[in-house]
Amino acid sequence: MATTSEVLADLEGRLFVGGQWRASTSGAWLDVIDPATGSVITQVADGTPADGVAALDAAVAAADPWAATPPRARAEILRQAFTLLQAKSEDLALLMTAEMGKPLAEARAEVTYGGEFLRWFSEEAVRITGRYGDTPEGTGRMIVSHRPVGPCYLVTPWNFPLAMATRKIAPALAAGCTVVIKPAELTPLTTIAFAKILQEAGLPDGVVNVVTTTDAAGISEPILSDPRLRKLSFTGSTPVGKLLMRQAASSVLRVSMELGGNAPFLVFDDADLDRAVDGAMLAKFRNIGQACTAANRFLVHEKVADEFAERVTARVRELRTGRGTEDGVTIGPLIDDRAVSKARDLVEDAVARGALLRAGGKATGGPGTFFEPTVLADVTADSRILHEEIFGPVLAIVPFTDEDEAVRLANSTEFGLVSYVFTQNPARGQRMIDRLETGMMGLNVGAISNAAAPFGGVKQSGIGREGGSEGIHEYLSVKYTLTPDPYADR
Ligand code: NAD
Repeated sequence: MATTSEVLADLEGRLFVGGQWRASTSGAWLDVIDPATGSVITQVADGTPADGVAALDAAVAAADPWAATPPRARAEILRQAFTLLQAKSEDLALLMTAEMGKPLAEARAEVTYGGEFLRWFSEEAVRITGRYGDTPEGTGRMIVSHRPVGPCYLVTPWNFPLAMATRKIAPALAAGCTVVIKPAELTPLTTIAFAKILQEAGLPDGVVNVVTTTDAAGISEPILSDPRLRKLSFTGSTPVGKLLMRQAASSVLRVSMELGGNAPFLVFDDADLDRAVDGAMLAKFRNIGQACTAANRFLVHEKVADEFAERVTARVRELRTGRGTEDGVTIGPLIDDRAVSKARDLVEDAVARGALLRAGGKATGGPGTFFEPTVLADVTADSRILHEEIFGPVLAIVPFTDEDEAVRLANSTEFGLVSYVFTQNPARGQRMIDRLETGMMGLNVGAISNAAAPFGGVKQSGIGREGGSEGIHEYLSVKYTLTPDPYADR
């Protein structure tokens, strides 16, 4: 098994443009930091706006040949990338843990999850179908087909450095689109390693281009205003998503937006509490709480709220905080100092407003940006923690008295990504599917992601879906053709 330094020594640190690995036009480099130690682990090219435009040039040049490549050939490259990704699973997991901090076991799970998008969309590439039918008046025939939208700009966050890239690149390639991807500046290494895998899998030059940069806004502006670009797919925070939507509006770009969340986690008094506690640990502490799907508000029926709080507190005390590469570690560092300050501020605010601190509550001090796994009970309605995305290992419990109140509390947010519901009453479960305003729901489960399922939100959590049979349609446009009634002139 390779070590992190061996994997890093093997890594390409330059921009990937038109199939070439090249330095930034400014010659600048950006530092990649290990959040578990605060030290620089390596450097990668710090791309400029001119590099971004060069990457778009390459994506535009490759667009027609790639769209004309048979779906089966596109599918086989994706499938080959899937196979290579499995073979390099350990290297990718080490890179992710080094640049992002998650425990190695979770990084391995992300390689599995991220890889599934390659396999799934290799299968979808050959199933892009259309419709054919008579007009109702019988005067003609209607053909509905799908065409690739064209060159796409993909912007990804740091929290799932591999899966957020494959979840966009795989459907885009399957649909016949070329792309420029800009990974988060905090975690550029995994995307670079993945681009190398695509190259090895036989992807033609220019189909995928990678620009790493500290100047996200500077790179994005000329790409988004370029009339050759056809689509923006963004995963990240809601404020940045809104900003990019405004920029995309000027050329009426197709957009997919996977934005922030504030997931409610409902535990009814008829829930199987063992299941609910297991689900809570997963929904809250996976990825150190830094997931858009992380449960943000635990709404628990007043009859079981104390027992639930006691049981999750006992489980939280078993968590082990430390460097992700160490055996047995379940909680790695937060991504940076800002994330630690935010978690601390939210906990202090909740306690000041009357919440009971049952476990954790503090930053652990350097080196590294660690925050103790924390449980807060009896959190009051005005606490910031219920209204902001925590993005940290803090579990906040709010008691409720009946189903209507639970629904009202759950829906009282501008976000609508995912909800979790624990009940053993099937009718209540069905009512929750109808009544909770979220794009996804875990019913008696604490994790919902699957490459075969449509991932996405409603309200300010986003527009569009990634994964499932829906995912490829984000990269296809509908083309309607009318032909005359073939019998008209007989
Ligand atoms: P972020 O919005 O700060 O950054 C996301 C990406 O946007 C990064 O690549 C960043 O460099 C880029 N960016 C930032 N400012 C930009 C600008 N002015 N112009 C162009 N690009 C810009 O988000 P983050 O902190 O990296 O990620 C965390 C957020 O992502 C959370 O809100 C989380 O909920 C969300 N998220 C959502 C999903 C989902 O599927 N809905 C998945 C993962 C993360």
